[in-house]
Amino acid sequence: MTHTEMYYSEIAEAYEKIEATTKRLEMTDLLVNLLKNTPKEIIDKVVYLTQGKIYPDFVKLEIGVAERLAIKALAHASGRRESEIEEDLKKSGDIGETAQKFTAQKRQVTFFQKPLTVQKVYETFDKMAKASGAGAVDTKIMLLAGLLADATPKEAKYIMRTVTGNLRLGIADMTVLDALAIAYGGGKEARELIERAYNISSDLGRVAKVVAEKGLDGIKKFQVIVGEPIRPMLAERLSSPEEILEKLGGKCIAEYKYDGERVQAHKEGEEIKLFSRRLEDISDQYPDAVELLKRHVLAKDAILEGECVAIDPDTGEMRPFQELMHRRRKYEIEKAMEEYPISLFMFDALYVDGKDLTLKPYPVRRKALEKVVKEGDRVKIAKHIITSDVKELEKFFLEAIEDGCEGLVCKSVAADSVYQAGARGWLWIKYKRDYKSEMTDTVDLVVVGAFHGRGRRAGTYGALLLAAYNPESDTFETVTKCGTGFTDEDLAKLPKTLKPHVIPHKHPRVNSIIAADVWLEPKIVLEILGAEITLSPIHTCAMNVIRQGSGLAIRFPRFTGNYRLDKAAEDATTTNEITEMYQKQLKKIAES
Ligand code: ATP
Repeated sequence: MTHTEMYYSEIAEAYEKIEATTKRLEMTDLLVNLLKNTPKEIIDKVVYLTQGKIYPDFVKLEIGVAERLAIKALAHASGRRESEIEEDLKKSGDIGETAQKFTAQKRQVTFFQKPLTVQKVYETFDKMAKASGAGAVDTKIMLLAGLLADATPKEAKYIMRTVTGNLRLGIADMTVLDALAIAYGGGKEARELIERAYNISSDLGRVAKVVAEKGLDGIKKFQVIVGEPIRPMLAERLSSPEEILEKLGGKCIAEYKYDGERVQAHKEGEEIKLFSRRLEDISDQYPDAVELLKRHVLAKDAILEGECVAIDPDTGEMRPFQELMHRRRKYEIEKAMEEYPISLFMFDALYVDGKDLTLKPYPVRRKALEKVVKEGDRVKIAKHIITSDVKELEKFFLEAIEDGCEGLVCKSVAADSVYQAGARGWLWIKYKRDYKSEMTDTVDLVVVGAFHGRGRRAGTYGALLLAAYNPESDTFETVTKCGTGFTDEDLAKLPKTLKPHVIPHKHPRVNSIIAADVWLEPKIVLEILGAEITLSPIHTCAMNVIRQGSGLAIRFPRFTGNYRLDKAAEDATTTNEITEMYQKQLKKIAES
């Protein structure tokens, strides 16, 4: 073994410890140790692996081993029958544990087992991900069986969980950034610089490698690259034009808030890739958008953002966001393109022909956008006004609603109005129709726990423990327990929907006083409508913010029937947003 190599057993050991902890700080410490012990040449790979991946999310390649294949591979490697493995799996419910057990009881013991290196494991995963065409299934099985044959029981457990997409250590991107800052940036202060590198590349592996090999100097020189999605800038919300103008220093660019799917378009010569709000490559869903951009973007290379909106093929009018869901289907895209055509409304330019614009103020970026986009019927630049007048802003808002938009996004024109990659800030403020009464607006909450049902609901769950996201501490704080709004069908499906996310103890990123019957990793986001927000000693959302010893809770919550599949847990409503809603509510009560 050379100094650039590392045994996979070291990773497996670290995983085991990480899995056992319920404390976030401890988790970070363990990760710091692992990263420090990792040879710099392969630190990117180790970072991906700890998150159960082999590439950053925007790369469209997955190891993708179905349980059925995993069982076959384990049968090969252990010399046991598939039926025996299946039987055990039924009991354990975890293919990792089953693999550990069967590897330990291997019938044919090989005496010349070579210890597995991280490189070997990674390369094999990589080959599995790239196997395609006829014979791909067999290739995957043989590759996996080969790894399992050389693995110790503990290694087998984690290999199996990784390939089936069940590693679930719960190491969030932000935890990795913390750990990198401590391990290679000289301490927490480096965190901001490292985070920016991540925000403009979405590639934790690349960031890790640069900081490990070149230190903070390397990170300072970190560049936007066409093809690597920039994490989206997000808007705060306010409910009156007065407040908005005040917050934005008296003047803003107000734009229509189109109700569609956000796309970040990366053009490199003739090649165009589209990334979603969650940074997934969605080019295949919108071949028409790709064609439109080829014709309407005048630069050779560019990164532009816009909203892709469904339009009525007959009238050209904007249609609701839901119609874009037809594009999610893998097949029949041709048909969807015909039945549900789209238009593009562009609203930002982040990079144009060698120039990174992310640190330029918005007026400069908008000028660049106007220069680089040739407008046409189906490609437009977001409709806007520049204003410092409350009445004018209100009028423009009403026009936007009439034109079928959700409202406005009002943008700062100040010298510091940079593109805040990956952040929800006050440089963009959304003004939406439905804020007239705070709780007529829905919130998006994360499921973090569940309670067993009784009576009619025996065998399924009676209620779910829901949380808002606190971006400052990167934790999920409980805000309500919700058991209404679920149809019988929803209820019947709940155990199956939640099962892949069940964990043995409260997730380290979840902050809860209430003890749930079943804990879940924060993954699933539900749209919830509540009656009002109240102070509560048993919910941790915004604990001590309004009053010492109290958090905030949503009363009478009801599931609207919408699973927000388009949102990651970190995209849920924030604890700050709930606090603001609470304050608004108080104000309204005072006024009435
Ligand atoms: P929402 O559910 O309100 O869209 P969100 O969390 O997805 O919330 P926000 O940052 O709060 O996103 O609101 C901005 C979103 O509005 C963007 O993500 C984008 O998809 C959409 N949008 C539509 N028109 C514009 C525009 N002109 N400028 C910026 N964003 C726009």
